[in-house]
Amino acid sequence: MKIAMMARNPDLYSHKRLKEAAEARGHEFHIVNTLRCYMNIVSKRPEMYHNGEKLEGFDAVIPRIGTSVTFYGLAVLRQFEMMGVYPLNESVAIGRSRDKLRSMQLLARDGVGLPVTTFAHDPKQTAEVLELAGGAPVVIKLLEGTQGIGVVLADTDRSATSVIEAFRGAKVNILLQEFIKEAGGKDIRVIVVGGKAIAAMERTGAKGEFRSNLHRGGSAKVVKLTPAERATAVKAAKTMGLNVCGVDMLRSENGPVVMEVNSSPGLEGVEKATGLDVAGKIIEYIEKSAKPNATRTKGKG
Ligand code: ADP
Repeated sequence: MKIAMMARNPDLYSHKRLKEAAEARGHEFHIVNTLRCYMNIVSKRPEMYHNGEKLEGFDAVIPRIGTSVTFYGLAVLRQFEMMGVYPLNESVAIGRSRDKLRSMQLLARDGVGLPVTTFAHDPKQTAEVLELAGGAPVVIKLLEGTQGIGVVLADTDRSATSVIEAFRGAKVNILLQEFIKEAGGKDIRVIVVGGKAIAAMERTGAKGEFRSNLHRGGSAKVVKLTPAERATAVKAAKTMGLNVCGVDMLRSENGPVVMEVNSSPGLEGVEKATGLDVAGKIIEYIEKSAKPNATRTKGKG
C-alpha cells in the first residue's frame, strides 16, 4: 500500500514508529508536512500538491494534526478524503474531538460516564454553574487547553470564583468539572484501535500535582482494565467516530469517567509502559480497512 502521514515533525517518536511499522510490513510510506500541502479545489477533480509535487495514488492517510493547526490540517485531510484516500480517522470525527464541550455533550448523550461538567457564557451565572458542579473543590478548564495547561483546581468557592473571573476577563471559554478526588492524581489512557482497547497505561502526576499529564512530569505504567473501563473506552471511541484514539479516564467511586478523547494519541508513553507494538496494530488496522473511496463522509461537512 501507499500510505501518507500528515505530520509536521518527522522526528517525533510516534511518527518514526508509524513509519517503521509500515515499512516493516512492506508499505510505501510518505510523510507530508501538513502546512506545505496546497490544494486545487476543482469540480470533480480534487487535487493536492506538496512542495511542488502532485500527491497521487495513495491508498490511506494517517492524520497527525497538531492542535495549533487544526483548521488547515482538517482542510488538507478533507481534500484527501475527496480524492478517495482512506483516512485512519475522518476529518469530521477529528473536528468533533477537538471541541471539548461538543465532545462532552455527545458522550453524555450516549450515556458514557463523565465527571459532572457545567458551562456558561454569562459571568452573572458563575454562582449557579459553580453550584451545579457541586461547589468547591472544582476543576476549571480552558476549552482550548492541552497537556494540562489551563487546568486549575480550586479548593474553595471563593478561589473558584476568582479563577473563573480571571479566565472570563481574558475572554477564553472554560468549563467547570467536579473534582474526582479519589482518582488520587492518577488517570488511565486507553488506546482504542478499530473498536478494541488494545493497550492501557496508568499515569501518575508528579508529587503534589493533581494533573497526571506526562508533559507535566507524570510517570506511566501498565494497567489492567476492568470490563467497565474497557467498555467505556470502546463506547467513547464509537461515539466520537474515531477508529484510532486515546481515551483518558479517571477511576471515580461511581466507575470510570471520561475526561477526553484524543484523535492523535502519542505512542511513546504507552509503548514504553506496556511493551506493546501499538504502531504495528495501527498499520494492521489500515491494511484491513483501507479500500479506495472507503470514506463514509466523503469529506462532508
Ligand atoms: P488536558 O487535555 O490539557 O490534558 P485534562 O482535562 O486531560 O486536560 O486534565 C489534565 C489532568 O488533570 C488529567 O490528566 C487529570 O489527571 C487531571 N484532571 C482533569 N480533570 C479532573 C477532574 N475533574 N478531577 C480530577 N482530576 C482531573
